[in-house]
Amino acid sequence: MRIVSVDPFYVKVPQVSHAADGTQDSFLVRVRADNGLEGWGESDASPLVCLAAYCCPMSHGNIINITESLLGETLDSVADVARLHAKVLRNGLDIQQVHHAYAAADIALWDLLGKQLGQPVWRLLDGPQAVAHPKRPYASVLFGDTPEATREHAREIRAAGFDAAKFGWGPMGKFGRENDVALVRAAREGLGEEGLVLVDAGVVWGRDDATAYERACDFAPFRIGWLEEPFLGDAIDAYARLAARKPPVPIAGGEASGCYRNAEDYLLNAGVSFIQIDAGRIGGISPAHRVRKLAEERGVTYVNHTFKSHLSVAASIHVFAAVDRFRLLEYPTAGSPLAQALTERPLGRGADGLVRAPDAPGLGVTVNLDTVKKYLHPVKIELAARTIFRQPVP
Ligand SMILES: [Mg+2]
Repeated sequence: MRIVSVDPFYVKVPQVSHAADGTQDSFLVRVRADNGLEGWGESDASPLVCLAAYCCPMSHGNIINITESLLGETLDSVADVARLHAKVLRNGLDIQQVHHAYAAADIALWDLLGKQLGQPVWRLLDGPQAVAHPKRPYASVLFGDTPEATREHAREIRAAGFDAAKFGWGPMGKFGRENDVALVRAAREGLGEEGLVLVDAGVVWGRDDATAYERACDFAPFRIGWLEEPFLGDAIDAYARLAARKPPVPIAGGEASGCYRNAEDYLLNAGVSFIQIDAGRIGGISPAHRVRKLAEERGVTYVNHTFKSHLSVAASIHVFAAVDRFRLLEYPTAGSPLAQALTERPLGRGADGLVRAPDAPGLGVTVNLDTVKKYLHPVKIELAARTIFRQPVP
């Protein structure tokens, strides 16, 4: 089939706040083929910056936009997805945002190819012999503003049937050691003795491995499953120093990886136990799958990072569905009305509480066009009185 349109969409809720909640807006890409099929993907990145990578006029031979690279191309095989990925990166060699921006299109191409070949994406990735293993979803939420609010939130999560939850960002690391410990204690009390409690420090200790180590020791009695992102995304040096101190809880990180090479750096040099990859940031399903393969080689556990809609949850689960020992799935349970209604149905939990990668062709979820229309923020870009981008019709 031939690619006949590449359509970016900027959607957002009416009022965007300062909360570390990436579901308030989104960048979607629809790719259509000449046989009438279409695929959809979502980036977890600044939507308008991404949009520029799809429509900026050619600057020179190393700055050619993504749309131009894809239009008219053929897409019939897994090799074509890899070829187009390489072409887009080569043409956009000097576009720093190209990986983030292309993530949505790469995901859309996998969705489209799966529909054409009648196969779920996980089988295209791992071959006809692959088996999709169910994943244990952990509810992913922000810490409450206070320990009391966090305890209440944890109770609600438990009442909703989750036995695993991650609490992150918000007040963690901002109001002193006692408050940090009180937050984690509240999460444990609210979720119960048996639940899996995960803590996301939200990069709050910068490069300060001494404080991170101290908190890891403080949190260990609450039997947390991991301490996530104690440092800034590029602080591989701090991760390595923390690993050398041998903290009493596993360390997780990697969601900031904006390209394959960043994730490789985590796997080779950071000493993390869990590598967390956002397919919507690293450049799509293709590089996320490469990272998963390297994680398998290195004995590090691969986990998705997903704090978007169920379009992104679906894209994420296909990447590691075929690996039995990678059991945990980040599963956003809250989020804006936009994120919650972006797919016609969520990627739901089974009667056993587990989440399964769909067997349907492509990603196996359907974008709700009414939601796209409702939250669409129409964009028109003019340059020297010439329109270089006009929002397509959803
Ligand atoms: Mg995180």
